[in-house]
Amino acid sequence: MNEQTFLKELKEIDLLRQAMGILEWDNQTGMPEAASEYRSEVDSYLYGLYFEKKIGAPIKEAIEYFGTHPEELSEVGQAAYTLVKEEYELQKDVPQSLAIEASAATSRAHTAWLKARKEKDFGLFKEALSENIRLTKEMIPYMKKNELTDYDVLLNQYEPNMTVEILDNVFSQVRDGIMDIRRQLAEKGTAPATTILSRKMTEAQQRTFISKVITDLGYDFNRGRLDNTVHPFATGINHNDVRLTTRWNEHDFSMGLFGVIHEAGHGMYEQNIDEKYQGTPVHEGASMGIHESQSLFNEIIIGSNRAFWQKQFPFFQACAEGTFDDVSFDEFYDSLKHSQASLIRIEADSLTYVLHIIIRYEIEKMIFNDQVAVEDLPQIWNDKYEEYLGVRPENDLEGILQDVHWSGASFGYFPSYALGYMYAAQLLQAMQKDVAVDDVLASDDYSPIRLWLTEHIHQFGASKKPNELILDATGELLNPQYLLDYLRKIYFAVYKIND
Ligand SMILES: [Zn+2]
Repeated sequence: MNEQTFLKELKEIDLLRQAMGILEWDNQTGMPEAASEYRSEVDSYLYGLYFEKKIGAPIKEAIEYFGTHPEELSEVGQAAYTLVKEEYELQKDVPQSLAIEASAATSRAHTAWLKARKEKDFGLFKEALSENIRLTKEMIPYMKKNELTDYDVLLNQYEPNMTVEILDNVFSQVRDGIMDIRRQLAEKGTAPATTILSRKMTEAQQRTFISKVITDLGYDFNRGRLDNTVHPFATGINHNDVRLTTRWNEHDFSMGLFGVIHEAGHGMYEQNIDEKYQGTPVHEGASMGIHESQSLFNEIIIGSNRAFWQKQFPFFQACAEGTFDDVSFDEFYDSLKHSQASLIRIEADSLTYVLHIIIRYEIEKMIFNDQVAVEDLPQIWNDKYEEYLGVRPENDLEGILQDVHWSGASFGYFPSYALGYMYAAQLLQAMQKDVAVDDVLASDDYSPIRLWLTEHIHQFGASKKPNELILDATGELLNPQYLLDYLRKIYFAVYKIND
């Protein structure tokens, strides 16, 4: 075994990944519906090749050989080796029959989830969810290294080195802090009017506006594109092909606008990973939480910045061709930042969003670390919504059936979204020591912000762990206070509270 052979094998695995990525993108953006059966044959054929290669003899040999000859690897080879070994060790002990059973259970659960949604009845999903939970619980001992609790094992799949111990502390601080801000807005604040948000803006007008904005922010259309879809996502096919998708609503321009700004943050991350990692698993985000920190930096940090919108507003008015000419800038900006508790996570605003995640975290932790009956989950869900957000679902569709994640057994994924919020605010705090962020956002040249993020986050891809990235970029480990300070500042200004 030598490094060249190892990297060639990784490249072939990556070529298959790229092909699957393009097919998945095609499937979500324009494939004729009738094609789905033939397409799924292609998908599963390619996935079979990909999976076999990932656990094939050359990879096993490389893991063994370089374990004793690490000095023969270059920096890129070493970074790739670390990731390949981690993934291999995570999978290798899980019996194949159990993995196959678990995968079959998720497809049945997805079908059951769709049916339950239609009937707004958790009862139709209960059994399939119980199966997903049972099989995940069975797999945990095979995946466990030295984590303290079973739920830590699940968290680590998406956010390496994250623990229940850290999250319990951080989330209780954030939950109490956000509930306190909400209380003060309700008691002392003046809610902004929001009627202008439903004024008609055509898809073409929105597209013209937002394409220019994300180009200014640093998304490179020469190495990307923007297409329409039902469930928006960004996908990094390779270093020079990072695609965004969105959906539009002509009577709610903020949906497409913030959606595209968000996905462009994911896209900019992938476009700015050091090209030397291309063709290896290092050419990827460091974790789901770090990936979200980049999309949310765009959406929540830049997207809440008054100077940024003041600069963009005349162009927004021009793109809307008269529809917003009678609207003042203050009226426009304040309406974008109004806050209202909602039942649905993906419709939540930037103040309440994290509470939706904390509810899911607390429930998942109960499922895997404590004892809870699956049939009690809807009641627990509804009670927590009432307690934290002051709203109560009237049926299971507005409640526990709203997310796809549990049907796919993606337990442990939700906290990534909240981590992204906290990382983004912490990164802003650190960036402000080097960059006058408000001044930059009031100017014609946003590149100092993009360059700072590339220098401290993007370029490394998955060669550093999330906690290491955050520590190196900001000088401290995860600290949720920055998010609370930021939310307080933004919302108190919009709600006209002086303190
Ligand atoms: Zn995202």
